[in-house]
Amino acid sequence: GTAPLGSSVISLVNRLQDIFSRVGSHSTIDLPQVAVVGSQSSGKSSVLEALVGRDFLPRGNDICTRRPLVLQLVQTKPDQEEFGEFLHLPGRKFLDFSLIRSEIQAETDRQAGGNKGVSDKQIRLKIFSPNVLDITLVDLPGITKVPVGDQPSDIEARIRTMIMSYIKTPTCLILAVTPANSDLANSDALQTAGIADPDGNRTIGVITKLDIMDRGTDARNLLLGKVIPLRLGYVGVVNRSQEDILMNRSIKDALVAEEKFFRSHPIYSSLADSCGIPQLAKKLNKILAQHIKAVLPGLRARISASLVTLAKEHASYGEITESKAGQGALLLNILSKYSDAFSSMVEGKNEEMSTS
Ligand code: GDP
Ligand code: MG
Repeated sequence: GTAPLGSSVISLVNRLQDIFSRVGSHSTIDLPQVAVVGSQSSGKSSVLEALVGRDFLPRGNDICTRRPLVLQLVQTKPDQEEFGEFLHLPGRKFLDFSLIRSEIQAETDRQAGGNKGVSDKQIRLKIFSPNVLDITLVDLPGITKVPVGDQPSDIEARIRTMIMSYIKTPTCLILAVTPANSDLANSDALQTAGIADPDGNRTIGVITKLDIMDRGTDARNLLLGKVIPLRLGYVGVVNRSQEDILMNRSIKDALVAEEKFFRSHPIYSSLADSCGIPQLAKKLNKILAQHIKAVLPGLRARISASLVTLAKEHASYGEITESKAGQGALLLNILSKYSDAFSSMVEGKNEEMSTS
């Protein structure tokens, strides 16, 4: 099948996370999160679902995502069955992903009411699967301008504040989702992302709905960064339409259709690198690897520092076997080794990661 998010970075990240857990909580780094921003119904939840490769998020042409959903992907051993577990329902394994979607909806209603209300209280869901990278994805409510239902008059400001609280974190990768059938120059997604990440170091532009642009228009210049330049560039995607949702079209079928759309398109067929969910996953993997590589020296320095402290403490105690300092030195060694592995991967010496 199609390789979802993380496939090429999984093993290295997992080994690093092993190390972090052995180092203990105060030496851990902020592992990168991926959050989606954009206007309501721009396709944020659809993009996240496609990246994960499973159907489980509420989607639709009304306001569906009304609380932040913090989705932790947890890699399990091969051959294990995929399941979800909510923080608010500990111990209950959701093997049926459509029940995950109903529970997200029910839990949204419990906190935010049934009438389009929005709450900043998180829903936390873990997905256990052999096919994922240990990473956190955050699905956020979209930016809306006009209050509807139970929404307060300052709904736009509230949602912006909520979104900002996630995307201002320097380790958060931002997927700025803009529908191609809207006024691209006024993209809420790119505007909001630009405030949180003015240098554009961690924002990827995602253009959805390329299949339903006005006849005679296309997003070629946007995808090439000629309209609003973005350091990390753009990826155009085609998600399932509302009709596809109503007809229960599977992600797998949708990905096949997406590929066919781009391959047969007179304009997009020549932009292979900037089109399709698999390309978005690939871009994310590469950026994740670079991110992690960038934070390794800091982590190493922190371990070194705690090593010095421990060595002093050790000296003050006199002879102790199995010292913490010794363990620290061992960890430092292991970390250096993986840092090198990351470097070669990021620099493209690793086959799987090369983009050519
Ligand atoms: P969100 O509010 O940003 O999370 O958007 P959703 O993922 O819930 O999608 C909103 C609506 O747009 C749904 O009806 C989707 O089926 C539809 N949609 C999303 N992406 C695309 C796309 O690329 N093409 C088409 N035709 N419809 C899309
Ligand atoms: Mg949504």
